[in-house]
Amino acid sequence: MKSHYRVVVIGGGVVGSSVLYHLAKFGWTDVVMLERRRLASGSSWHAAGGIHALNADPNMAALQAYTIDLLSEIEQESGQNIGLHMTGGLTLAGTPDRWDWLQANYRIFQSIGIDDCELMTPEEAQKRCPIMSTEGVLGAMWADREGYIDTTGTVQAYATAAKKRGAEYYEETKVEELIQTADGWEIVTDKGKITCEHVVNAGGLWAKQVGRMAGIELPVSPLKHHYLITDTVPEVAAADFEMPMTVDLEGFTYMRQDQQGVLVGIYEIDHEHWAMDGAPWDYGEELFQEQLDRIENELTLGFARYPVIENVGIKTWVNGAFTFSPDGNPLVGPVPGVKNYWCACAVMAGFLQGGGVGKTLAEWMIEGEPEADAWSMDVARYGQFAENKEYIKQTTGQFYSRRFVMTYPNEQLPAGRPLNMAPAHDAMTEAGCKWGVSYGLEVPLYFAPKGFEETPTLKRSNAFEIVGEECRHVREHVGMVDTTGFSRFAVKGPGAEAWLNGLLATKLPGPGRARLAVMLSPEGRLKGDLTLFNWGDGTWWIMGSYYLRAWHRRWFQDHLADGVEVHDISDNIVGFSLAGPRARDVIALLSPEVAELPFMGCGNFDIGLHRARVGRLSVTGETGYEVNVRAADHIGLRRTLLNAGAALGIREFGFNAMLSLRLEKSFGIWSAEFTQDRTPGMTGMDRWIAWDKGDFTGRAAALAERDGNGPARSLVTLEIDSDDADASGYEPVWSDGALVGFVTSGGYGHTIDRSLAMALVDSEVSQPGQALSVHVVGKECAARVISPSPYDPDGKAMRG
Ligand SMILES: Cc1cc2nc3c(=O)[nH]c(=O)nc-3n(C[C@H](O)[C@H](O)[C@H](O)COP(=O)(O)OP(=O)(O)OC[C@H]3O[C@@H](n4cnc5c(N)ncnc54)[C@H](O)[C@@H]3O)c2cc1C
Repeated sequence: MKSHYRVVVIGGGVVGSSVLYHLAKFGWTDVVMLERRRLASGSSWHAAGGIHALNADPNMAALQAYTIDLLSEIEQESGQNIGLHMTGGLTLAGTPDRWDWLQANYRIFQSIGIDDCELMTPEEAQKRCPIMSTEGVLGAMWADREGYIDTTGTVQAYATAAKKRGAEYYEETKVEELIQTADGWEIVTDKGKITCEHVVNAGGLWAKQVGRMAGIELPVSPLKHHYLITDTVPEVAAADFEMPMTVDLEGFTYMRQDQQGVLVGIYEIDHEHWAMDGAPWDYGEELFQEQLDRIENELTLGFARYPVIENVGIKTWVNGAFTFSPDGNPLVGPVPGVKNYWCACAVMAGFLQGGGVGKTLAEWMIEGEPEADAWSMDVARYGQFAENKEYIKQTTGQFYSRRFVMTYPNEQLPAGRPLNMAPAHDAMTEAGCKWGVSYGLEVPLYFAPKGFEETPTLKRSNAFEIVGEECRHVREHVGMVDTTGFSRFAVKGPGAEAWLNGLLATKLPGPGRARLAVMLSPEGRLKGDLTLFNWGDGTWWIMGSYYLRAWHRRWFQDHLADGVEVHDISDNIVGFSLAGPRARDVIALLSPEVAELPFMGCGNFDIGLHRARVGRLSVTGETGYEVNVRAADHIGLRRTLLNAGAALGIREFGFNAMLSLRLEKSFGIWSAEFTQDRTPGMTGMDRWIAWDKGDFTGRAAALAERDGNGPARSLVTLEIDSDDADASGYEPVWSDGALVGFVTSGGYGHTIDRSLAMALVDSEVSQPGQALSVHVVGKECAARVISPSPYDPDGKAMRG
């Protein structure tokens, strides 16, 4: 072992080995992986080795598809047999909603390029998997690229392939301490000290402790998981083909062939955490005693699905642990605030996702940015709120138990909630507010009559009319929405203006003005759709999406300059926004000066008893005022605004209405229209770029795009002929049967009475009037491109 490496990867499980392999593959060979025992001696050795395509999150599905394709490549490259059995796989649907969901997902797969799937009747599915009973099955999806692998062989293959490319790994080498140095890390191991520039936590079951070595509390916990392997099943032995990997979602089981028997794995509803502070250091290749009382119900369902196993013995029980984050996705990327400390942990399906995780992390370390949008696994999607043990317990437990349970797009899950609340939360609840959650904060969805409960559905819900009424009220009168769920950063210091000018692609607003600000990566891809306020007193504010707080904070910190201070003030500053044709009348009653603010003007004012920073803007497309105050003023400000607006018919609305109103204006939002793998040209964000203002981050790349052949895809607004459901995102868009794009977001335009979507489509079919079709919840609907902003295209209401 050398005394210095560019990168030290801690942990030789499937994930660490994949990170090592990808670093070497992409050109960083001065890298080493340290493993406290032998390769694969954490959760990796006892995994079921199943690989399957389905994931409710399209980004994760794409990651899984990459990993599956990589497996035969690393087998070839390493010369190590990985026991790959590409049997194909079935996913079964056992309820009408699940069948709708599966059909919708089949279509989403098409739009993300996974095209080896087909939908099947129960009878067709049974031909592929003759040992299964089709009792209760309504339909199935077949995927060619599913099956299983030998787990330790696969870890060996990644590590061997990495070594062949120049990387090193050492077993029986435990990392005991991490000390941050001026230019990296000192790694204290039981075999001596080494130094490195970057450290990667791929500690799997021990990731929590490897985080704590650097003072980081990662939101991760191990949970226990069962599978069984049967003795020989005569029907399996007699078959002249292998049984496919079969996932029975309503039965909470997955099944694959194992020699001449089968392996059945169980996602236990009655879940059990283990070693929440990380596995004990002396934990080796041990298993837990099976806990039949915890899995009785799922076992009964499993035996009913595969009746042939009732007559054979169980050869092996495995009850082992593996790790989960609160939303079940991996924790990957640079940890905010800790220089050169990278995460590749909480990978719940390492054999299925590990390849993609390794690729993403290696690109990030080497290029500065991953190629694809890595948001859904970015460690920065969590903040301090997720360090709490009870929060981690509730959320990881909820994810585990619901692993095979369908979550509807309008469903609110209870774990870890309510956690953070705006001061007026209780008063708003009293007024009928129904809450969602963003980055640990309760955010208002809509206001409903007492006793109202929203029914989970894939289609329009029973809250449709309530939200519609809120939208119409904003367009016709005046509405008020709590804006605590916007993030706010204060930027100050002698270097603030120059720093902002270099960081943002937009012209900076003058004193007392606000402006939409585009932020780009050096590669010219989007990094932010922000609003910049120049308060005229030396203070600037950057406002953005609340859930991106840690993500933006990390970017600002990584690009900070001398003479600039950036503070995340989102916990201290809250607010309300007024919107609608009567908004000015309401505000005039409290401050005639504010009523005089021009469109996109901003300043410090008195609103009743409250000192506020007010901006004249709104995402609804109406005349709007965003009133920002200290958290202690939140309750008082709400009362003040409601009292002032009472005679003018003011009423509160929530984010659901706000999203519908912005769609009617074709205003894009982050994680839908705007993501970090898209460019200004393809999303229309180029119109906010100040080409003539001098240099800024991403300018050269953005210029190259501008002066090139034009983007292959463009963002358009669609109207869709759909009666009972709306698009939500990633649905495929077709032109004469050819796939031409996908939906970025959708919903109902309540005040123009149309089902709307925004979509990225091939530029040749992006002109208004173009006839297209879109699959909405699995059903093909006619659609057409319409001119942007179907409501008030000239923006008179907003500017007026
Ligand atoms: C019963 C069961 C069935 C499963 N089935 C599947 C399946 O079908 N498909 C699938 O994809 N996944 C499956 N999984 C999940 C899979 O096992 C994990 O996702 C995967 O093993 C995670 O790999 P890892 O490398 O992150 O962690 P681990 O395998 O836990 O590896 C971490 C490694 O880091 C080492 N380490 C930790 N701290 C240090 C230190 N300080 N110094 C040096 N070394 C250190 C450990 O010794 C360990 O080897 C299953 C898991 C279980 C328990």
